[in-house]
Amino acid sequence: MSDLFNPTEEHLALRQMVRAFSEREVDPQAEEFDRTEQFNQALFRRLGSELGVLGVTVPERFGGAGMDAVAATIVHEELAASDPGFCLAYLAHSMLFVNNLAINGNDEQRERFLPGACSGELIGGMCMSEPGAGTDVLGMSTLAKKDGDHYILDGQKMWITNGAISDTELGDVFLVYAKHEDRSERAISLFLVEKGMEGFSLGQKIKGKLGMRASTTAELVFEGVRVPEANLIGTPGKAVRSMMRNLEIERLTLAAMSLGIARRSIEIMNNYAKERIAFGKSLNHFGQIQRHIAESYAEYMAGRAYVYNTAANLALDSAGNRVDSDGVKLYCAMMAKNVADRAIQVLGGYGYVAEYHVERLWRDAKLLEIGGGTNEAHQKNMTRDLVGREKIL
Ligand SMILES: Cc1cc2nc3c(=O)[nH]c(=O)nc-3n(C[C@H](O)[C@H](O)[C@H](O)COP(=O)(O)OP(=O)(O)OC[C@H]3O[C@@H](n4cnc5c(N)ncnc54)[C@H](O)[C@@H]3O)c2cc1C
Repeated sequence: MSDLFNPTEEHLALRQMVRAFSEREVDPQAEEFDRTEQFNQALFRRLGSELGVLGVTVPERFGGAGMDAVAATIVHEELAASDPGFCLAYLAHSMLFVNNLAINGNDEQRERFLPGACSGELIGGMCMSEPGAGTDVLGMSTLAKKDGDHYILDGQKMWITNGAISDTELGDVFLVYAKHEDRSERAISLFLVEKGMEGFSLGQKIKGKLGMRASTTAELVFEGVRVPEANLIGTPGKAVRSMMRNLEIERLTLAAMSLGIARRSIEIMNNYAKERIAFGKSLNHFGQIQRHIAESYAEYMAGRAYVYNTAANLALDSAGNRVDSDGVKLYCAMMAKNVADRAIQVLGGYGYVAEYHVERLWRDAKLLEIGGGTNEAHQKNMTRDLVGREKIL
């Protein structure tokens, strides 16, 4: 029998390993790190040193697991079922930094950074958004000026996951997009910027987020940062293509996080509705409650099939899945938020407090309609790409 969700023995073993770790280690700490808005660095590093999933898509010769987009989807689904905030830190590191560098960097850069990033020694992130440019990302204003064998970076980046690893400390290494002096819209390059480079600092660690509070979000400041040419990724001015390629795996894995949130919410509401008695019956005897549970399950399974089918067709080293990488995130982000919302409703007052987790899952789910592309951005991209298809399939 074929299994879309675990297509090989290795995928199934990966899911079982991550699920066991997640239930044993990630679940028990989730409420505390959400409440205190802290990033669990020690647990995060164990994803590398014990599980070997920080470089899930990286070739083994650079310290990774050498697996595919389906494997990345599995890890995100399983971690997010326990703690979406912790999983967002994993995504920023493993997809936005590690996978991005593995695909777009050269061998010298891979050898320099990937073994440490795969083991958990280094914690990384990716800087695209700015205070004045998010959806309109090509309108960024961070500038890279050539100066001999260096580039001088000036600007600010905003909303950077893993930008800080504590209240005061920067993350270790970042992939940073910047424009060239002519400021033409598509002349964008990608640079490796390391903690300790002069002029590179933590602007602010952003506090008071609605959800994803177990991941850090920061503003990063670049003031005349001298970046050696050896830290330029690919050809100068040609990073838009690698940006688009990395956005596909980012959106797929954000959709996978939505699956984890939805599955957990359904488990919680289903179990609660079996036990809770009202008017002499368990809640799952009432049609309105049945509707919440049954529609949530059907929507989750529809999203799950769409996500794993898209993952199976997503080649890591080439772009070209944009309609569906936007599509899975658009559908699943809204689905996860609606499912978590129904779970709160089924639990009544108990759903509104931390003990049953669904209020946290609902708060975390909202970010998936904004980060990595807003719902509106996906609608815009998809409609633009579908216009050329007279027959959709
Ligand atoms: C917790 C968190 C973590 C993040 N992590 C990272 C990270 O690690 N790295 C990184 O680079 N970024 C990160 N981001 C940034 C994120 O990707 C942006 O917030 C997102 O792309 C939206 O950009 P914006 O916030 O500037 O909103 P804007 O782009 O200003 O959008 C505001 C509103 O206008 C709408 N809008 C904008 N343009 C259009 C249009 N053409 N048509 C219709 N509607 C439009 C949007 O959909 C939205 O509703 C993170 C954000 C958050 C909140």
